[in-house]
Amino acid sequence: MLEGKVALITGSTSGIGLATAHVLAEQGIHLVLHGLMSNIDGQNLAKEFSERYGIKTFFDNADLRDENAIVLFMASAIECMGTIDILINNAGIQYTEKVDSFPTQKWNDILAINLSASFHTIQQSLPSMKKNKWGRIINIASVHGLVASVNKAAYCAAKHGIIGLTKVVALECAEQGITANSICPGWVDTPLIKQQISDVATKDNISFEQAQYNLVTAKQPLPEMMNPRQIGDFILFLCSDSARTITGSALPMDGAWTAQ
Ligand code: NAD
Repeated sequence: MLEGKVALITGSTSGIGLATAHVLAEQGIHLVLHGLMSNIDGQNLAKEFSERYGIKTFFDNADLRDENAIVLFMASAIECMGTIDILINNAGIQYTEKVDSFPTQKWNDILAINLSASFHTIQQSLPSMKKNKWGRIINIASVHGLVASVNKAAYCAAKHGIIGLTKVVALECAEQGITANSICPGWVDTPLIKQQISDVATKDNISFEQAQYNLVTAKQPLPEMMNPRQIGDFILFLCSDSARTITGSALPMDGAWTAQ
């Protein structure tokens, strides 16, 4: 049922986005790939996907801090691929610091990338989804959209915000075959969290592996980091017909972090 649909995944040059791109491509879903990568490397990545999976691809490296760049990116993607059926707002950054000394520039960047960019991509994608009377919008939030942790003011604000935005889109599109959901992962093994692990290893004078274990178990009863592909598999399920009544939800995938 999903073969031939077009998915756009922001931040698909790394981590969860890249793993999800492979999961969707295996189903014959055409892909708009995106992320901070040189145009040459991005075109090569798109070519690899096309050759390996026999799908159409498009790559763009729009900086999501720039609203005009997002609008241009979305217009070119839709012109090239004809439509956007599945929108996965995944790109995100992290920065940790106490709120008293949180740098304003970092606040602005996190809010722009982790929240406002999704408003723009959703706005640009909805016309084609409404025309087709079918769409899937999946926003990668975080457990930090549901609960807070110290030193993550901007991240928690943006992730709580994206869950609110997702709910509104779900309500507004409920009768049009379009679902909108947020996924709220706990710890996922990607480059995004390496800095946090290194910081703990240095501070506590322990190995990277021990720091990773300590960081995960400080929050997650299930003492295991998720693999990015597991998020991709969950996204694939949300795209399926079986999931057509799941909408407006913030779905934890967090080793019981938020069950406590
Ligand atoms: P990652 O660092 O591996 O990938 C981030 C992606 O976002 C990259 O493709 C990067 O190019 C892109 N990106 C970053 N800044 C950008 C910008 N200014 N403009 C355009 N693209 C930009 O991270 P990841 O762990 O795969 O994170 C993906 C999403 O999952 C994020 O929204 C993150 O908050 C969320 N998340 C991650 C974890 C985790 O433990 N890794 C947990 C919960 C939620």
